[in-house]
Amino acid sequence: AKLQGRDRFCFFSSDFARRASEHFSIERHLRRAIEAGELQLYYQPQVSLADGRLVGAEALLRWQSAELGWVTPDRMIPVAESSGLILPIGQWVLATSCDLIRRHQAATGDWLRIAVNVSVRQFQTAGFVETVRQILQQSEVPPACLELELTESLMMNDVAQAIPLLEELHALGVALALDDFGTGYTSLAYLKRFPVDRVKLDRAFVTDIHRSRSDAALAQSLVAFASAMEFELVAEGIEEAVQHERLRQIGFAYGQGYLFAKPLPEAEFLALVRAGQ
Ligand code: C2E
Ligand code: CA
Ligand code: CA
Ligand code: CA
Repeated sequence: AKLQGRDRFCFFSSDFARRASEHFSIERHLRRAIEAGELQLYYQPQVSLADGRLVGAEALLRWQSAELGWVTPDRMIPVAESSGLILPIGQWVLATSCDLIRRHQAATGDWLRIAVNVSVRQFQTAGFVETVRQILQQSEVPPACLELELTESLMMNDVAQAIPLLEELHALGVALALDDFGTGYTSLAYLKRFPVDRVKLDRAFVTDIHRSRSDAALAQSLVAFASAMEFELVAEGIEEAVQHERLRQIGFAYGQGYLFAKPLPEAEFLALVRAGQ
């Protein structure tokens, strides 16, 4: 038993050291990633559950580092947040998304709707609303084409500070979505206070929606609440036709997931958009 305890200690401490060194290695390489052109946005289609029609897309960061290979957002975003690199990266994500919207409009006459993830640190940095306003203005994109995805922890961190900021963003005309709903501590009562246009039900509640009565009940109460409060619902992480079918029965209007499409490189995403028109 003693030996086992020591082994376990060694395991944890070396794991900690490994993670700390990975953190600094990612940070060092991430500093140069933007200029090196290593960051890309992939776009995952969002569809209407009634007819499969494409209604927009979520922009998702992808990083292929020359030295580290592919680094997933789950490894990169925490480092970007703690180092402050999320600020230039977040601006790059907004500007790149708006640039795509603009280029697609110039080529086809149609406006895309792109949803962009915003991190807590970005949201809480003074001047965020102004940054969004400037990027929209410079790219000449109608604000309604841009949706900002915010998590509940971001809103709950400091509710008194968050609500006026959300209202300023709304006043700009951008759409606001509450991401990962159900995973945090937000109750329906809180939703009432946030001026959001869309709520994204987290994949954790979608996976078993066709066989879990409690998950279906949560989704059902969300549908009733959404129609009273006039926000739209998007289900995340739909992988199977049975989940799609159940969500549609329950009354979800929109969905996103591997069943419809994975996050795609820009050219593939645009080809899909054109095929649907
Ligand atoms: P998220 O915002 O909840 O994004 C959804 C994640 O689920 C994405 O992972 C997406 O690729 C994945 N996904 C989509 N459909 C399915 C499905 O059917 N099944 C499964 N298993 N997964 C699916 P990804 O791209 O690895 O991103 C992970 C997280 O990293 C995101 O979660 C978001 O929190 C963060 N992130 C990604 N891009 C950005 C960004 O540009 N800025 C910020 N601040 N965060 C980002
Ligand atoms: Ca998201
Ligand atoms: Ca999500
Ligand atoms: Ca998430």
